[in-house]
Amino acid sequence: MGDLKDILPINKWFDELSSKPLIIAGPCSAESEKQVIETALEIASNNSANIFRSGVWKPRTRPGNFEGVGLKGLKWLQKVKEETGLLVTTEVATVEHIKMCLDHNIDILWVGARTTSNPFSVQELANACKGIDIPIMIKNPINPDTELWIGAIERFHSAGIKKLAAIHRGFYPFEQTKLRNLPKWEIPIELKSRFNNLPIICDPSHISGSTEFISEISQKAIDLNFDGLMIETHNNPMLALSDAKQQITPKELDNLLTNLVIRHYLEENGKLEMYRHQIDSIDTQMLELLSQRMDIISEIGKYKKKENITIFQLRRWENIIKTRTKTGQSLNLNKDFIIELLQLVHKESISKQNKILNK
Ligand code: PEP
Ligand code: MN
Repeated sequence: MGDLKDILPINKWFDELSSKPLIIAGPCSAESEKQVIETALEIASNNSANIFRSGVWKPRTRPGNFEGVGLKGLKWLQKVKEETGLLVTTEVATVEHIKMCLDHNIDILWVGARTTSNPFSVQELANACKGIDIPIMIKNPINPDTELWIGAIERFHSAGIKKLAAIHRGFYPFEQTKLRNLPKWEIPIELKSRFNNLPIICDPSHISGSTEFISEISQKAIDLNFDGLMIETHNNPMLALSDAKQQITPKELDNLLTNLVIRHYLEENGKLEMYRHQIDSIDTQMLELLSQRMDIISEIGKYKKKENITIFQLRRWENIIKTRTKTGQSLNLNKDFIIELLQLVHKESISKQNKILNK
């Protein structure tokens, strides 16, 4: 499929996009002409963003929720362009959407997380873009599937689109977490290390799910040398018809951007930093898994106490050592290292059960 070497940097998309990081701001959904224009005017007068975003067709989990204003929203985006000079972007999910956007001079299109998850839809959209010189941004799929994300990018690339960017919006968490979507930073980092010149934009709003973590996640993305941020901004978030909890006001956006520390990117240190962040993320996941394992150990302890069963079960332990060393070795891990690690985990499990049985 090639190395996507001919993908253009964002500053080659439009003359207006020369400064880094790229900032895309605007409401989750276009709701009324007044809301769209007021939000855009304030963002533009603060000089906060280069691109104005707004969804006009909204993918909702259940029918009956606000599903976007549709076509008339595109006319409001056209008005934003005329009145502010900002470039405008919206989400497309069908070939019909693409046609309407082109008819209304929408500058940039993005593919949402749910659509990226479906290769049939992505291929149809890519086919509809053949021969058209429009930048496309592709959000990561809902699940942490790096290949599926790359596949979607490749489908547009094969259709001749060279102005491509990936948007990292996090991955659906199966457990309850403080964030709406898990960032799993190692995934966008892997994307960047495989396709050096593919621009990556972070969407801290959909990762965070609330206003609380947006600036922290934005800073992290900048520290990782992401090319830009897409931040949901609404003139009156409390009244928003979608994603109300995670939208900030244009003034809050201005504050956030003022406090953002833009770092220099030194190739060598940058590489090292990328690896370190990958390791940080994997360590966190390792600890989360260990903690889940210990929770189960507590349940086992309670059960053994109730049934009066010994903590140590020789055959079970032998089986653990045997199967885990085999799995570990097939994953290129040293056998002694695996045994030492298992012993350490086992010791902690026993002491935990001991406390429960003898409480
Ligand atoms: C959005 O950007 O408002 C949106 C629907 O995002 P996602 O596709 O990432 O869920
Ligand atoms: Mn949204």
